[in-house]
Amino acid sequence: MTDLHPFIAGLPKAELHVHHVGSASPRIVSELAARHPDSRVPTDPEALADYFTFTDFAHFIDVYLSVVDLIRTPEDVRLLTFEVARDMARQNIRYAELTVTPFSSTRRGIEEKAFMAAIEDARLAAERELGVVLRWCFDIPGEAGLEAAEETTRLAVDLRPEGLVSFGLGGPEIGVARPQFKPYFDRAIAAGLHSVPHAGETTGPQTVWDALRELRAERIGHGTSSVRDPALLAHLAEHRIALEVCPTSNIATRAVTDLDAHPIREMVAAGVLVTVNSDDPPMFGTDLNSEYAVAARLLELDERGVAGLAKNAVEASFLDPAGKARISGEIDAYTDAWLAR
Ligand SMILES: [Zn+2]
Repeated sequence: MTDLHPFIAGLPKAELHVHHVGSASPRIVSELAARHPDSRVPTDPEALADYFTFTDFAHFIDVYLSVVDLIRTPEDVRLLTFEVARDMARQNIRYAELTVTPFSSTRRGIEEKAFMAAIEDARLAAERELGVVLRWCFDIPGEAGLEAAEETTRLAVDLRPEGLVSFGLGGPEIGVARPQFKPYFDRAIAAGLHSVPHAGETTGPQTVWDALRELRAERIGHGTSSVRDPALLAHLAEHRIALEVCPTSNIATRAVTDLDAHPIREMVAAGVLVTVNSDDPPMFGTDLNSEYAVAARLLELDERGVAGLAKNAVEASFLDPAGKARISGEIDAYTDAWLAR
């Protein structure tokens, strides 16, 4: 089989499921740690690489929280956001809906209007200087309960930054039932935001149904367990409700035992609109290009097949029709040129 890595690396791509703080690469963390020498995060690249080697999921959460602790000022927020876009540009990601959890920052004392100004400033600079178009999904950290839901909804609806397109729900699923968040999603949807909760990653297909029926989900974050319910797969396929699949993340969190057991094949076979994403890439030791390579292997795709995956993400995005046509056109032009070499 041909090595698809060089093709994938240059392929214009869109990413729909990737977290803001979770995208802080060792390079970015080292810059943030240097700004806050009192933190316990190492600044030396080698020590930092060790620091990012997780022994288990609890250790991952510990490291994640220590990175959250480095984001203390609006300038930290701006730096993180712009540098995440730089890492995206290097992978030829042209468009990303970045999941931001404003509650974690405002609760830690970053003034809310300054937070919005910082992400917007970074968004405009990323588009101008790096050619990466960013949009925001504000998500409720489910583990923080309804107080966080209320606060996230208020920030999304009342302070709505220009780049905000969607509303999400993350954190643990076990013990955090989706239906309780219905009033918050209702308000966000009424304000014109799209609904994109995480569901069916660590719990069964009922959680996906709850996300569809109660939270009116237009895409599902992960949705891994959907394959256990043929009626659900048929529903997703019929309504073109995309799954945001993040293969390596699913292994890291043990939602799936190993890559070869990943249900992406069943999803595609059922006709579901599957998109490939990286979730918290540096924390899971991956990036979007690696996730495309994994998907290509599992689905036995050639260049056209991989380009099709990239176009799925464009279709399932909340870009306007002109923006979708532009990136899809870039994908086709790149693929044609590659195959004509
Ligand atoms: Zn996620």
